[in-house]
Amino acid sequence: TRKPIIAGNWKMNLNHFEAILLVRKLAANLTAEHLAAVETVVLPPFTDLRSVEGAIKDDKLNIGYGAQDISKFASGAYTGEISGSMIAKLGATYVVVGHSERREYHAEDDATVNAKNKAAFEAGLTPIFCVGEGLAIREAGNQVEHVLAQIDAGLDGLKTEQLKQIVIAYEPVWAIGTGKTATPEDAQEVCGAIRGRLTEKFGTEVSDVVRIQYGGSVKANNIAQIMAKPDVDGALVGGAALDAEGFAAIVRFP
Ligand code: 13P
Repeated sequence: TRKPIIAGNWKMNLNHFEAILLVRKLAANLTAEHLAAVETVVLPPFTDLRSVEGAIKDDKLNIGYGAQDISKFASGAYTGEISGSMIAKLGATYVVVGHSERREYHAEDDATVNAKNKAAFEAGLTPIFCVGEGLAIREAGNQVEHVLAQIDAGLDGLKTEQLKQIVIAYEPVWAIGTGKTATPEDAQEVCGAIRGRLTEKFGTEVSDVVRIQYGGSVKANNIAQIMAKPDVDGALVGGAALDAEGFAAIVRFP
């Protein structure tokens, strides 16, 4: 009974005019039934959030939105940072935390990611908490161990009610933007191991309700087979989310 959640991470693409256009085109390609069956979320750059809020609220669209990052601090002298309360004030409900591109290019470690998960909840936002292994770890066969260590560290100190709400995204780094999708079996192996860990640590009260997404070269032509796996509850889509028709086709997978 976990409702599928498909989120489009726009990364550093589209200005605020282009953002409005994409949201409107996306809505035009989806019926109320599609949007009721699959929770649909867009994750634009910070500078687009205000206009995305306007487009969604003006047209009363059943589409969620959120930010791609959050400061671990609540406010103050942190030049260039954006706080959770600023994001929440724009009507956003989600925020991506610990994306591999933040971990790699902005040196975010597990402790920072954990602090950001906490900052998100503090501001009333739901984290889309990202984990995933690089190619070397995959080739050594250590993907499950690596991801579970990220899970343990990222969720440390969260309350039960927060754990039940969080969305986890498993994104193998070698499958991001490469056209190399993990096989559905690869995705299930790690997503299943994540759910197993949640059961072990927090019980089925948590593990039965937490939604786990797969991310990495998801397209309209591979979404259905990935979603067919029992522990995959959604997708975090990068490149294919920049095209309204392509992203709508992914949302329409069922
Ligand atoms: P791609 O879908 O472009 O591989 O990106 C995946 C991703 O990183 C989403 O957060």
